[in-house]
Amino acid sequence: MPDEIAPARARIADVGRLLYERHLTDTAGGNISARVGGCICMTPMYTGGHCHWDLRPEQVLVLALDGRKLEGEGEISREALVHLRLYGQFASAGAVVHSHAPNALVFGAVGIPVPPVLEYVQRLGPVGIARYAPTHTALLAENVAEALAAFGNQHTPYAAATIVPGHGLFVVARDLDTAFDVSERIEITARTVLLGSLLVGNKAWIEGAQAALAAGREAQAPEG
Ligand SMILES: [Zn+2]
Repeated sequence: MPDEIAPARARIADVGRLLYERHLTDTAGGNISARVGGCICMTPMYTGGHCHWDLRPEQVLVLALDGRKLEGEGEISREALVHLRLYGQFASAGAVVHSHAPNALVFGAVGIPVPPVLEYVQRLGPVGIARYAPTHTALLAENVAEALAAFGNQHTPYAAATIVPGHGLFVVARDLDTAFDVSERIEITARTVLLGSLLVGNKAWIEGAQAALAAGREAQAPEG
């Protein structure tokens, strides 16, 4: 095994605990993976339900790019299909975080994209809704890959995200820290939109907030 595998497995275990403790996912599921030294390191099946996201590094699986298990305790998550598909499709994908982010789930349930009302998600843009497919199916992998197609077209890949209706959030990024960071930014943006809508009782403020950010950017842009 390449030298970088062991620290990557420990880091994935740490990020999983962080994701759960910060209420960015739930006990029912979610999964984290990273591309390391030609392999994929990924959380195993039942990380939430059986382990409450408290993994030892040895439980983080090491998979070949074709999905074969090379090392690690436990079984391969059935959502590995989605992760492997994304690594296959995007050469620059370094990590994937799938979470059942509670506020983002609301947008998925009603089928409305998360508008980028906070400055720190401007670079990401709106988080759209993928076409529905049942959990653990090859079609889910296909639909998530289709929804994240913009990631591969960026000149400097940063991250891309989508929400699967009735299921959860998928983020692909250049590395694990970015994928975690973007997951939290989206979840906080979703919460902001929901609470903002409670506060003022209509959705007109969302466009206003986005226009104000855009106007601010223009005012700051260097001339010429
Ligand atoms: Zn899931």
